[in-house]
Amino acid sequence: MPEGHSIQRLARQFQDVFAGQRLSVSSPQGRFASGAALLDGQVLLRADAHGKQLFLGFDNELLLRVHLGLYGAWDFGGDETFAGASSIGAPRRIGEREIPAAGAGPVGGSRIESSGAPGSLGYAGPPEPRGAVRVRLVSGHGWADLRGPTACEVLTPAEAATAVGKLGPDPLHSHSGDAAEFSRRVGASRTAVALLLMNQQVLAGVGNVYRAEVLFRQRLNPWLPGSALSPEGLAALWLDIVSVMSDGVRDGRIITTSPVDRASPATPVPVGEAHYVYKREGLPCRICGTEIALVELGGRKLYWCPRCQE
Ligand SMILES: [Zn+2]
Repeated sequence: MPEGHSIQRLARQFQDVFAGQRLSVSSPQGRFASGAALLDGQVLLRADAHGKQLFLGFDNELLLRVHLGLYGAWDFGGDETFAGASSIGAPRRIGEREIPAAGAGPVGGSRIESSGAPGSLGYAGPPEPRGAVRVRLVSGHGWADLRGPTACEVLTPAEAATAVGKLGPDPLHSHSGDAAEFSRRVGASRTAVALLLMNQQVLAGVGNVYRAEVLFRQRLNPWLPGSALSPEGLAALWLDIVSVMSDGVRDGRIITTSPVDRASPATPVPVGEAHYVYKREGLPCRICGTEIALVELGGRKLYWCPRCQE
């Protein structure tokens, strides 16, 4: 599932390629036909992300809320101006695995295709929909297709505020008070900190990769109850999450290792050097050499170093 940094990048991409433009909105699959009709012909004013949720705001005040979930994906295509703006797009991604966007256009929770031959000025419009396209947005320069989302609905501003209100603070928004709110929500719970970090009502946007990596970076035992963390520990955990996720927005992939802890100085950072513990079960810890362990916790895989995070 794309983590918060990917949805933040997706929001920026929508902002770049569609903001200020009047869009045709349809549901080729038909499942979202009534919702699409509410947005069709409206101007997209802005795109925002909160945690793993994307909000597209239109000039009739309605919002499209999308949660990609495990299987959702956006595909983009368009003319040269559209594709150029999209070059900041999301990383190539398969499930929770990040692949650097080497060469090919950005792909992943979102995928960008360039329709039309390089150098051609013509834009013939979007291709025939392939598969179950829940919603299609079309501007004068390009298009976006959404398939397989967990959630796709039209909300009023009040309903959107309610949806955001159910979520914990987003480390990628710099609202004052968010650090304190995070500390309050984690510190008030006896649940294992590894479960709390994945709970979107506690913290919005962290998924399995960031969860494992920040717990390692903070040398926190995953089963430590939230209430057992010190105020200093909670503050440090929040700051670390903000730091690595902001890097993820910039880089388009999750890199949590410090250069000094990598076996290779190569750039871009090789996939095998990007993480401390995630998907490294059985491999030696970069710090202490102990085998990285893998357990199931709350139905999700948790990677950790039994020695560093004792
Ligand atoms: Zn270790």
